[in-house]
Amino acid sequence: METLRDLSLARGTLDRAGLRRRDPDLLRLLLKDPSTRIVELVGGRAQVIESDRDCALLLRSPEEQDAFRLTVFLGQDGHGTAYVGLVGAIGDAQDPSGTAPWRTLREVGVLLSDRDAGMFATLQGLANWHASHTHCPSCGAPTEPDQAGWIRRCTQDGTEHYPRTDPAVIMAVTDAADRLLLARNPNWPQGRLSVLAGFVEPGESLEAAVAREVFEEVGVVVEQVRYLGNQPWPFPSSLMVGFTARAIDPTLHLDQEEIVEAVWASREELREMVLAGRFGISPTVSIARRMIERWYGGLIVTT
Ligand SMILES: [Zn+2]
Repeated sequence: METLRDLSLARGTLDRAGLRRRDPDLLRLLLKDPSTRIVELVGGRAQVIESDRDCALLLRSPEEQDAFRLTVFLGQDGHGTAYVGLVGAIGDAQDPSGTAPWRTLREVGVLLSDRDAGMFATLQGLANWHASHTHCPSCGAPTEPDQAGWIRRCTQDGTEHYPRTDPAVIMAVTDAADRLLLARNPNWPQGRLSVLAGFVEPGESLEAAVAREVFEEVGVVVEQVRYLGNQPWPFPSSLMVGFTARAIDPTLHLDQEEIVEAVWASREELREMVLAGRFGISPTVSIARRMIERWYGGLIVTT
């Protein structure tokens, strides 16, 4: 089975050059080098240069005050140019010229180049992790960044803490008539439907998580769980791993706490729902959208 390629947030091209992170002077030296490219993230937004067709991250040379910010080494390109992400405070988001708007990864993830989409996803994930791991899980003392922003170290006991990625499964479940299962989470607005998803639990394989989540949420037993593709989803720290699965019996028994409505949709029904505006579809940046379109057999254009 063909896997999903070119998922919006799985396109990064930079060499992460992980061994360079061991150099304790790396960031200090890179922040003195005018050829270093800085990308700034403030409150989940980065500045972009927009054109009619696409957009690019605004990259700049280092400035003196950058040394006082949280910075992370994102990697280097084929020419040896180093890229450093900077996590700013909310008050930093200023653009006196007004030419480069601040955008979220959800907004521009599809429009960015491979390099820029990968950098934005990496920086967003690291920024989220730093913000939520300010203290040591062993002793409670403050932690501080080390290894070019890729670990945090406890200031008391010296323990090292690494960025977290939480695997989540997302599944396109079909029945014998090749209808697709779409459901609405109670936190979503009325009319928004998507494929099912859930976090992988400790001690569980990805395939077992698919079967468990589908059974828990809609009471359906599945078989033929097959891998489809994956992409990072740093909101705040997921890796979305996509699968297809086949329902043995399409009868639905919803867990109302997790799912408020669920339907088996044929391609014709999906088309009607979208055109009638009854169906809010997952955004193009998501793996969910790509999975729905893969089943549908083409792009789904929403107005
Ligand atoms: Zn500690």
